[in-house]
This record gives sequence, structure tokens and C-alpha cells, in this order.
Amino acid sequence: MAKIYKIAVIKGDGIGPEIVDEAIKVLDALASVSDFDFKYRELLMGGIAYDITGDPLPEETIEGCKEADAVLFGAIGGEKWDSLPRDKRPESGLLRLRQALDLYANYRPVKVYDELVDASTLKRKVVEGVDMLVMRELTGGIYFGQPRERGEEKAFNTMVYTRREVERIAHEGFKAAMKRNKRVCSVDKANVLEVSQFWRNIVEEVAQAYPEVQLTHMYVDNAAMQLVRNPRQFDVILTGNIFGDILSDEASMISGSIGLLPSASVGGKVALYEPIHGSAPDIAGQGIANPIATIASAAMMLRFSFGEEDAANRIEEAIEQILRDGCRTKDIADYGAKEVCSTTELGSYIAEYVSKNA
Ligand code: NAD
Repeated sequence: MAKIYKIAVIKGDGIGPEIVDEAIKVLDALASVSDFDFKYRELLMGGIAYDITGDPLPEETIEGCKEADAVLFGAIGGEKWDSLPRDKRPESGLLRLRQALDLYANYRPVKVYDELVDASTLKRKVVEGVDMLVMRELTGGIYFGQPRERGEEKAFNTMVYTRREVERIAHEGFKAAMKRNKRVCSVDKANVLEVSQFWRNIVEEVAQAYPEVQLTHMYVDNAAMQLVRNPRQFDVILTGNIFGDILSDEASMISGSIGLLPSASVGGKVALYEPIHGSAPDIAGQGIANPIATIASAAMMLRFSFGEEDAANRIEEAIEQILRDGCRTKDIADYGAKEVCSTTELGSYIAEYVSKNA
């Protein structure tokens, strides 16, 4: 009997449905030549969920995700919902889902594909060979800290980290480094913030358990500069929620297009996989969205949640191969395109390669 992996599928808004459909196409192609299969359950989140149920994260979606082996997510949001109260906005659905699933560690690998070096806004000699991982703490820090207040004369948020929160993300960072080049750069603002000095001390403590990993520290302002000066110096960047939010977006641009980069959010029993970009309402429905970030997120799902390393590698090789073949969606068409493909054509090429090269 084939193993069956249960995947909760949240397509979301904008280009979400278009790119998730391509990831499913690739997963199905893989299943057709493997000893496992996938069972999908589609769930609502974001603007579409608000339109249908009045809630951007219906209870059924939380329960459905908890019952699955992993969650594959597209993107949410759009102007249509921007004027809703904060708790009804699509983004609040995603924040609540991360908390409900205890997804405290966000993996954002940033890799520059050889074929797309010139798509980067930075010089070739700076970005060639970049391969790093930004490990961002996702459920703590200033985005969640209490007290918070917005008054007429004063407003504030609070950056809080507990020992447990820092320890668990630090372990995640060191473990990831053990599987990579064994270097962790912890990014903080310890020269100014108490919470950052606390973070730094605990990271030092956790490092004792990983003697093979080289640990360095960097202030966040310097890290922002170093990322564009010499990004190859980084292996794993370990950092808190707000710094990770900003640095990972900065790092993503090194690769050339936001449509290329996957992510995984892990921690609790069920992990969530999504492209790093948003719902791109400006190109939704045109069939030009780049599905690579979502397909690469599906590869991360195979590796992290299902332990199917070979299958994950096969998808990643397929992505590299079709880029070598010169297939490009519009966002990267200026860089070595032999054929400008639609979203579905690119997905089909990857699916075909995956099933042919079993
Ligand atoms: P965005 O990432 O959606 O788009 C930024 C730019 O990148 C746009 O020009 C878009 O066309 C382009 N782009 C994004 N993904 C692409 C892809 N796969 N292929 C080709 N081009 C792509 O960011 P935004 O415009 O700031 O936000 C749009 C909406 O998405 C907002 O409502 C925002 O809140 C939401 N958002 C959602 C998530 C999420 O679901 N995780 C993340 C970020 C933003």
C-alpha cells in the first residue's frame, strides 16, 4: 500500500490559486512515479474566507490544518480588504494560524541560481554562489509583545522574548547549520536593547551544545549593510521576528525575483510551506505569476515534513534544469529566456521533468 501524505491546501487570494495549482501538479507528477501519494483538503483563509464566512481564518481551517500532515499555502490579501478592521483583514488570519500551529521558526533559504545571476540588482561578482538561510523567530518579539497601545499623543509596542522562545529558535538555527556549512551569525541590537542582550546571552548558551558550529554576532544595522556588501559571508542568519522580517526581504532581492523563493514555518506538529511573496494582485488572473517559489516550497515540505529527501531533490533539480533550458516567466524573462512561459506552462515543464527522471 502506498504511503498517503495528507496536505491541507490553502490557496488564498490574488495569484494564490494559480501558483498553488502548479505546485499540486508537480506533486501529482511525483506521486505518479513514487511509492507515496497525496491526499489534499482545500481550506479557506484570507480575503476569500472573509467574503464567504465573515472570518479570515474560519475554525474549520484551523482544525483541518491540525488534522493534516502539512500545510501548503499560496498567499493572501488585496486592496479589497484593506479597509476592514485589523482582526478581519486577511493578514490577521495568517498570524492567527501561525500561532494556532505554534510555528515559531521560519526558514527562508536564499539561493542564487547560476542561470539568473544577472537578474539580481547586485553585481554578478557579489551574488554568484550565494546560498544562505535566514532563520527568523516567528511567534514572539515586538509583533506580539504586551502591553501595546495606540493613543492620540503616544503609541507603543513592546519587544519581549522569554528564555524558552530564544532557546528553541536558537536550537533550530544551530541544527540547520549542522546540515549546512556549520556557521551561525546571530543578528541583534545588543548595543541598545536589553532584550537583544538577553537574546545574545542565550544564543551563546545554546551554542555550547553545538561545538562544531562557529557562532558570530552582528548588529542588525551592520547585517543590513553586509547583506548587500558581501552576502556570500553568511551561512545561517539567526534572528528575531522584526529583524528577520526586514532582513529576509532584503536577502530575497539578492536572488533576482521574489517569485523564486520558498519558505517553511515549523515548530508544532504540522508545518506550513509558502512562497515568500504576497498575493500580487497587480498580476492576478493574467497567467504570468512565477510558480517556482511555491513549487520549491512543496519541495521543502517533502524534505521537512515527510522525510522524502530524494523527492525534494528531484523537484529542486527540475527547477534548475528548466531554468538551464531557458524557460522563464515574465518576471525574469530578461535574463536568458529562450522561451517566455505562462504560469501553467512552467509548472507543466517542471512536472514533466519530475516524472520523466524518476
Ligand atoms: P507582493 O509580494 O504580492 O508583490 C510585490 C511585487 O512582486 C508585485 O509587483 C508582484 O506582481 C510581484 N510578484 C510577487 N509574487 C510574484 C510571482 N510569483 N511572480 C511574479 N511576480 C511576483 O507584495 P505586495 O504587492 O506588497 O502585497 C500584495 C498583497 O499581498 C497585500 O495585500 C499584502 O498584504 C499581501 N501579502 C501577503 C503575504 C502572504 O500571504 N504571506 C505576504 C506579503 C504580502
